Amino acid sequence: MSYAVIGSGFAGLASSIELAKEGHSVHLIEKNNQLGGRARQFEENGFKFDMGPSWYWMPGVIENFFRRSGFTTSDFFELKKLNPAFQIIFNHDTPLKVPNNWNNLLSLFESIEVGAADKLQQFMKEAEYKYDVGINKLVYQPGLSITELLKPELIKGIFKLQVFSSFSSHVRKFFKDPRLIALMEFPILFLGAMPSETPALYSLMNYAGLKLGTYYPMGGFTKVIEGLHEVAKSFGVEIHTNSAASGLNIAAQKIDQVNCNGKPIKVQGVIGTADYHHIEQTLIPKKFRNYTESYWDKKVIAPSSLLFYLGVNKKVPKLEHHSLFFDEDFDKHAHELYKDKQWPSKPLFYVCCPSKTDPSIAPEGCDNLFVLMPLAAGLDDSEEKRSEYFHTLMSRLEKFTGMPIRDHLCYKKSYCISDFKADYNAYKGNAYGLANTLFQTANLKPKLKSKKIKNLFFAGQLTVPGPGVPPSIISGQVAAQELMKTLNH
Ligand SMILES: Cc1cc2nc3c(=O)[nH]c(=O)nc-3n(C[C@H](O)[C@H](O)[C@H](O)COP(=O)(O)OP(=O)(O)OC[C@H]3O[C@@H](n4cnc5c(N)ncnc54)[C@H](O)[C@@H]3O)c2cc1C
Repeated sequence: MSYAVIGSGFAGLASSIELAKEGHSVHLIEKNNQLGGRARQFEENGFKFDMGPSWYWMPGVIENFFRRSGFTTSDFFELKKLNPAFQIIFNHDTPLKVPNNWNNLLSLFESIEVGAADKLQQFMKEAEYKYDVGINKLVYQPGLSITELLKPELIKGIFKLQVFSSFSSHVRKFFKDPRLIALMEFPILFLGAMPSETPALYSLMNYAGLKLGTYYPMGGFTKVIEGLHEVAKSFGVEIHTNSAASGLNIAAQKIDQVNCNGKPIKVQGVIGTADYHHIEQTLIPKKFRNYTESYWDKKVIAPSSLLFYLGVNKKVPKLEHHSLFFDEDFDKHAHELYKDKQWPSKPLFYVCCPSKTDPSIAPEGCDNLFVLMPLAAGLDDSEEKRSEYFHTLMSRLEKFTGMPIRDHLCYKKSYCISDFKADYNAYKGNAYGLANTLFQTANLKPKLKSKKIKNLFFAGQLTVPGPGVPPSIISGQVAAQELMKTLNH
C-alpha cells in the first residue's frame, strides 16, 4: 500500500518508519527544508543550536523505538548522563545543584528539610508504579475506546495512578519547603498546565527526571532526528522536503490523493502529524472535520516560549548544562501563563548551555546558550516585546554569572509565537501542544482517528499521549499501527 505522512517531527518520522518497516511505500511530506520539526538544529558562526527540546528524559522509550526497527540509539549517537542533572537558582549565591545519583539526591532533600529523604523514597515508589503502568501500558493505548482502560491491571491500580487528585496537593503532602515543591513542580509548569489542574498521575515525570536521569545526546537533539532519518531511509521512505501539504482529495470517505507543491501523491492512507488543528481546519473540508474551531478554542494549550539562541565569545563558568532561574515568584508566573494569559511581570526562565557537555556545538573558548521563557500561547510578540524581555532576562543572567554577557555576544537570534506559527503552522503559536490537564488526558484528548475519513489518523503532540519527545514518538508508532489495522480489515 502507499501511505503519506504529513510532517517530519518525531511523530512523523516514527509513523513513517513503522509503516515502511511493514513493507509499505511511504511518502514523508515536510513543509520546511529540513526534517525534525520543533527539534530542528541550525548552524551559524560555528554554533550549532538545537531549536527545541533539550531535556532527554525516558531514554528507554527512545531506545525501544530504535530497537523495534533493528537499530539502537548508539548506532547514531552517544548518550551522556548529566551531573549535576540541573541547577535551580532560587537565590544567586547558592544555586541548588541536583545530583544524578540517587543517594546524593536523598541527602540533598534531607539537608533542605528534615525527613524529606524518607518522603522522597515514598514519593518515588508511588511515581515508579505510575511510570511503569503509565509509560509501559497506558501511553501505547490509542485512546479510541473506554474499554482500553478496563483492563484488570489498570482497574486494579486506578487509585494508585491518582488520575483524579491534583499534582500540586500531592506534592504538598510530602514536602513543605518551597524549594522542594518548585523542584518537583517545574516539569509540570514548563510543559503543560497549572500543577493544581494536572493529575497527580504525572508525578511519573519526576520519576523519569530524578530517578532515571537527565541525559544529553552528543551533537545535540538533532542526532536523534538524524538517526530516525537514517532508519527511515533504510526502509525506503521517500522524503519530500520543501513540500507543504496543501489539500487532500476525499472520495467515498477516503483520502485518495495528497496535494503538495501542486504535485498530487496517490495514497491509500494518511497520517497527519503536523499540528492537528492545522490539518483539520486548513486541509480538510468542514463536513469531514472531527472538531470545530470553538472546540479548539476551549482547549487548554500548553505554553509557547520566547527563545533566544546566543553565541558567547567566552566561557560562562557559573552555568551548568541546565539552569532554571526560579529567583522570582513561581505561582505568579504560573498564573500569568495559564490564567491571565499575559506577558509575565517577573518571569521564571531556563538557560541551556549544552557546550558545557559538548565541545562540538560551539567554537573553541565559546559557549552556546539557549534561553527559554515560557509564555502563554496566542499572544502578540512584537520586536519591542522581545527586546524588552531580552534585557530583563539578561540582567538576571548577568547578575548570577557575574559576567557582562551582552558585551560578549557574537550571535543572537530570537524566536517566539509568530515564528512557531510561520514555521510549523502551530495553533496559537504553541510550543508543546496540549496541556496535560485531567480533561485532556488519555481518551479525552483529540482523537487519533478521524471519525469521518476512514483512512486518516493523526499523531503528534496535540493528540495521545501528549507533548514531549518520547510521547510524540509513541504517538507516531501507535497511529501507524492503528491505520494498518484499520485498512487490513
Ligand atoms: C522550545 C521547545 C522546547 C522543548 N523542550 C523539550 C524537552 O526538553 N524535552 C522533550 O521531551 N520535549 C521538549 N519539547 C517538546 C517536543 O519537542 C515536541 O513535543 C515534539 O518535538 C513534537 O513533535 P511532533 O512530531 O508532534 O511535531 P513537530 O515537531 O512540530 O512536527 C510537525 C511537522 O509538521 C510540519 N508541517 C506543518 N504543516 C505542514 C504541512 N501543511 N505540510 C507538511 N508539513 C507540515 C512542520 O513543519 C513540522 O516539521 C520542546 C518543544 C519546544 C518547542
